Amino acid sequence: MPELPEVETLCRQLREVIVGRRILSSRVIDPKLGLLPPLVGKTVQSVVRHGKQMIWTISGGTCLVFQLRMTGRFFWMENDAMPPHARLEISFRAGRLILSDPRRFATVKPWSPPVSSPVPDGLEKLDPKRLAEAARRRRLPVKSFLMDQKAVTGIGNIYASEILHGAGIDPSRPAGSLTPAEWKKMVAMAARILRKAVECRGSSISDWRDLFAGQGEYQLHLRVYGRKGEPCAKCRSKVRRIVIAGRSTFFCPKCQK
Ligand SMILES: [Zn+2]
Repeated sequence: MPELPEVETLCRQLREVIVGRRILSSRVIDPKLGLLPPLVGKTVQSVVRHGKQMIWTISGGTCLVFQLRMTGRFFWMENDAMPPHARLEISFRAGRLILSDPRRFATVKPWSPPVSSPVPDGLEKLDPKRLAEAARRRRLPVKSFLMDQKAVTGIGNIYASEILHGAGIDPSRPAGSLTPAEWKKMVAMAARILRKAVECRGSSISDWRDLFAGQGEYQLHLRVYGRKGEPCAKCRSKVRRIVIAGRSTFFCPKCQK
């Protein structure tokens, strides 16, 4: 599932090819997506990300909010080929943008006025005090708290495991039990890991591909995710896999307390 670094990668790449460009045609291929407002002749003014959402502002005051969910991908095509599982096609003079989505959970919804949310985003400067306050008295595992899009937006299963490993915090600990120093460490680690993952254009685990069908490279930097039984990069103990809230969770029992 695309998380913050993957969606940020798409946004940055989309800005290069569609911002300031006029839409020549748009076609909903999968009716499950629902109807879109008229787009033909309008110009894409901006593409921004909030959490895992992508928000396009279109001339004339329309906003489109895309959520890629499990398997939604955008591909930029400069030839006539059609990627498999295409659900939406938007054409520009220089090429076509295809939403490909085998499991068909991605959504696109018109939304106005533009989204502004008080929920802090993982790539912005998170405030450790604010997070500690939001987590106070909460007993859910800290990993689930990090993935709660109402607490912090953009962090999903892969990066939650990595951030907790970087910060040396046991993913099962109740969110409310972390000390101010631990929140501070976690925030610093989240910023470092997410920035690096954006630089690497995300993690190509399973089938993630960027706008130009390229693989991300952050999977090469993952320290615990998907590494059950391998030695921890810090202490050489074996990485363990447990399930928290139904999701695979990887951690080092020795250096995460
Ligand atoms: Zn370790």
